[in-house]
Amino acid sequence: MFVFKAAVVGAGTMGGEIAQVIASAGIPVLLKDIQQELVDLGLKKAEEVTNAQLGGLVEKQKISREQADAQAQEILGRITGAIEYEGFGDVDFVIEAVPERIELKQAVFAELDAITPGHAILASNTSSLAISEMADATSRPDKVVGFHFFYPASIMRLVEIVEGADTSPETMQTATTFAQTIRKLPIACGEEPGFVVNRVLNSAISEIWRVQEEKDLSVKAVDDALSQARVAPMGPFFLTDLLGLDTVLHVAEHLQESYGSESFYIHQGMKALVAAGDLGAKTGKGFYDDGQPRSEGETEFDHEELTQRFVLKALVEACLLLEDGIATVRDIDLGLMAGAGLVPPPLARADQTGLDVALAALERAAVQWGEQFRPPLILRRLVAQGRLGAKTGQGFFAYKQPDDGFEQGEAVQLETCDGYAIAWLDRPPANSLSSQVISELARIWEHVESEDGIRALILASANPMLFCAGADIKAFAQIDEATGAELLDETHALLRRMECSSTVTIAAVNAVAFGGGCELAMGCDVRIAAQSASFGQPEINLGIIPGFGGTQRLPRLVGTARALELNLTGDPISAEEAFEIGLVNRVVPDHELHDAARAWARKLGGQPPLAVAAIKRTTAGDADLDQGIEAEKDAFGEIFRSDDAREGITAFLAKRSPRWTGR
Ligand code: NAD
Repeated sequence: MFVFKAAVVGAGTMGGEIAQVIASAGIPVLLKDIQQELVDLGLKKAEEVTNAQLGGLVEKQKISREQADAQAQEILGRITGAIEYEGFGDVDFVIEAVPERIELKQAVFAELDAITPGHAILASNTSSLAISEMADATSRPDKVVGFHFFYPASIMRLVEIVEGADTSPETMQTATTFAQTIRKLPIACGEEPGFVVNRVLNSAISEIWRVQEEKDLSVKAVDDALSQARVAPMGPFFLTDLLGLDTVLHVAEHLQESYGSESFYIHQGMKALVAAGDLGAKTGKGFYDDGQPRSEGETEFDHEELTQRFVLKALVEACLLLEDGIATVRDIDLGLMAGAGLVPPPLARADQTGLDVALAALERAAVQWGEQFRPPLILRRLVAQGRLGAKTGQGFFAYKQPDDGFEQGEAVQLETCDGYAIAWLDRPPANSLSSQVISELARIWEHVESEDGIRALILASANPMLFCAGADIKAFAQIDEATGAELLDETHALLRRMECSSTVTIAAVNAVAFGGGCELAMGCDVRIAAQSASFGQPEINLGIIPGFGGTQRLPRLVGTARALELNLTGDPISAEEAFEIGLVNRVVPDHELHDAARAWARKLGGQPPLAVAAIKRTTAGDADLDQGIEAEKDAFGEIFRSDDAREGITAFLAKRSPRWTGR
């Protein structure tokens, strides 16, 4: 489903900025509240944010003042204020951002159900209420979804896409794609209280609250200790002041009611401050008053213990989310990085520490500090499997352990295992494909082919957050025609050699595989996808077409209709959908991806080589494919030279919408 027009209901703290974010991405949006003055406040907020953003670009001399004024006018022109539901008859996506009361939300959802077209998705920005209860107020529970922004919505990139009991996979996908379209970073999660970020962050912070009150520690010394140890971007008391004590208390109470007080302790002093009307930055006073702490306390304490309590508690909560299937490994860590500033995030941090070390620390903590530190089952299981984190090559994530001679810094690194090998794509930040990557991959392939003992090659990413984001657009925009053609030739030649060889190739797709990344995976014999993976051929959004076989292998895998759809819309699809249409062979939980890929490598690598080669050659090695690839190359070259391609790439780099001329 496509979003041509959106609406935001509730023009308060969140609503005004959400409308601005949508309008900035080129999508017209209605902004509704109950009174004209409130709508005007929301519009004003949108204007302030727009001016601040564009002003920043002018200051950095990225655009001129005139360009900024014109862009501001364009963005704000896309927002229409409303106090009735006028204009809602043709919206495709609505985000509700009214106050956090279920009866109010249900009333709004019932109204939206009656006033919007049947296909429209109704999303809620709720931080804590059940999506399913809002869905119950409508006749389209499958199209109701959580769409949780973080404050301030114009700056924070994370959006939690929350799946209610009846939310359909299509709705989750549309919401995810819409979040990406408005330049946000979506993660998917179940509708358990606190979702991902609030739950893990609050769990860790509540432990600090507990110690601070038990030992009467200085609030400022605690804040300083945690920020200096770099376990969080700022201390919990400072953060609470910024967010508003009432807001934080509300979330904390909700989490305590849901999960119990053992894991979610509430700071008693905070309760008293809220009762006294001291809500932090917004009222001038909270834990701090004008930067000074309002109470004294012990300044001498064990900093290591304090940071350990924070780190271990975050790990326990993250593991529980994983165990209960509420979010994937990647989404949990990505959420905590982007939404809470925890760098490294809890699961990656534990992998670095060593899962055996973390488990032992939790066992001690459970005895010393309480049952809330009881080691989660999933951690015990991983340790029992010998998956101890970075040092053994696998923990929650997989880690490269390249052969000697592969220096850090090479874009593709080889790891030889027993009977098979792994080619690790390792080109920060996005594993984007360049001439260097392709020639290193070709060298590795030659080596693999020449080794008798290696019968299968796994293609994997050393970056836990993405597989491969596609061709290097910046470099692409600068290379001359001859070099570009050479890159195409080399890539195609490599993929064809892989397809006709007796060595089996397996793509272990952990996350985003877009454009060239998706085409590289399609050039492999088997594709195993992690739940967090997504696939897409977004070239068309740049005014170009797929160049590494996307117009040829995609239809062969998924049929012409779906291939045309994917190539023409440029929209991504989830791992589940990729499995349904035949683009991938299996979907597995994130943390099982590498075990699954290795099992396939052992199985297929053990098959008779002549038969493997013959089957591969006759299945994918047809002359039609070669012809098709030649046709794609010609078309790619032609399109790449067009004005539209230049405009598409320029607009992409400038983060603005392109204007097509058909020339
Ligand atoms: P807010 O009180 O600042 O704004 C809510 C707005 O909704 C008000 O302007 C109100 O007049 C309007 N409203 C009330 N009833 C309405 C109706 N029937 N139709 C249209 N408008 C109506 O609240 P907020 O802080 O923007 O929060 C909105 C939602 O976002 C809540 O669900 C909240 O949990 C969630 N949220 C808030 C934050 C945050 O930090 N403030 C962060 C993430 C999510």
